[in-house]
Amino acid sequence: MPWPSSTCWRDRPTGDRRPATGDRRQATGDRRQKERVIPSERQRVEESPSSRKRDSVPPFRYSRFPIPDSRPLLLGAHTSIAGGTHEAPPRANAIGATAMQIFTKMANRWAERECEAPELEAFSAAVAATDLRALNAHDSYLINLASPDKVLRARSIESFVCELRRCEALGLGALVSHPGNFMDDRASGLARNADAIVEALARVPGKARLLLETTAGSGTALGATFEELAAIIARVPARTRRRVGVCIDTAHIFAAGYDIARDYDAVIARFDERIGLDRLGAMHLNDSKAPLGSRRDRHELIGEGAIGELAFRRIMTDERLTEVPKVIETPKLDDPVKTDRRMLGRLRRFAAG
Ligand SMILES: [Zn+2]
Ligand SMILES: [Zn+2]
Repeated sequence: MPWPSSTCWRDRPTGDRRPATGDRRQATGDRRQKERVIPSERQRVEESPSSRKRDSVPPFRYSRFPIPDSRPLLLGAHTSIAGGTHEAPPRANAIGATAMQIFTKMANRWAERECEAPELEAFSAAVAATDLRALNAHDSYLINLASPDKVLRARSIESFVCELRRCEALGLGALVSHPGNFMDDRASGLARNADAIVEALARVPGKARLLLETTAGSGTALGATFEELAAIIARVPARTRRRVGVCIDTAHIFAAGYDIARDYDAVIARFDERIGLDRLGAMHLNDSKAPLGSRRDRHELIGEGAIGELAFRRIMTDERLTEVPKVIETPKLDDPVKTDRRMLGRLRRFAAG
């Protein structure tokens, strides 16, 4: 199944009243841009004291497959499972990937499925024939664990539990999940999101980690600030918290107001301070069609959008991020293999310095 579009479905503005910010930014000049490096106070939430404390995260095995350690760069793409999950590893291999992200079902449908033994064997064999070392799943776009609607939230939790089960069965290292939309009240939404995570993780014991993805913050989407992600994590009891990490999407944090293009060090320092780099379990490397602080989620080819090359050069040469699997979710144009190969080649060149 192809990546639905260059826009994450759930991040699309829904009745967003903000005008496009491009012109406004120009009019108010650099000072405003500087202020947008860190999102505004309005979005911050009260942190409980414990959210600043970091419990140590045990060494995280990205994949349970015995794969040779010959390619240290964990780099790949979100990959289609059209034809079955076993079809994804050869596709990832065709673009020279060592990391891969997949959906484990139709991401825009509620219909669930379980992974049966033949699928697990086929998938495992397919992975073993590649250089893949880091394997993650991305959850369905319909899930909203923060919803105030009891029916939708219960349905979301059931769906999320199934996502975790498939992830565990397939031996994937982590499930990447967007925090939900709060709809009514931000603090209540964060609590509902965290409590749903705790419930789901309790129902699916195992090794697969949950990675909360940073969002662009359109509408009532939670997770556009590091403080909000820290607040969700802080509400998870310490024992379960060991299974929870974060996935940074470069396009999303840029759209949320974190200026990785001009102030990379400050953004990473803020992440480390609020969440801790030891919790960074994956990165989505996407350039952004939408400008800084626009709250719009529009992915662009690496180095060809509003973020530009420099931030990606910094990421690819940042030794603190070497062990973090990085996948692209960039437009595939009319030839997915050719385009993804080109993007990964570009990132590898950045890594080479
Ligand atoms: Zn996105
Ligand atoms: Zn995502």
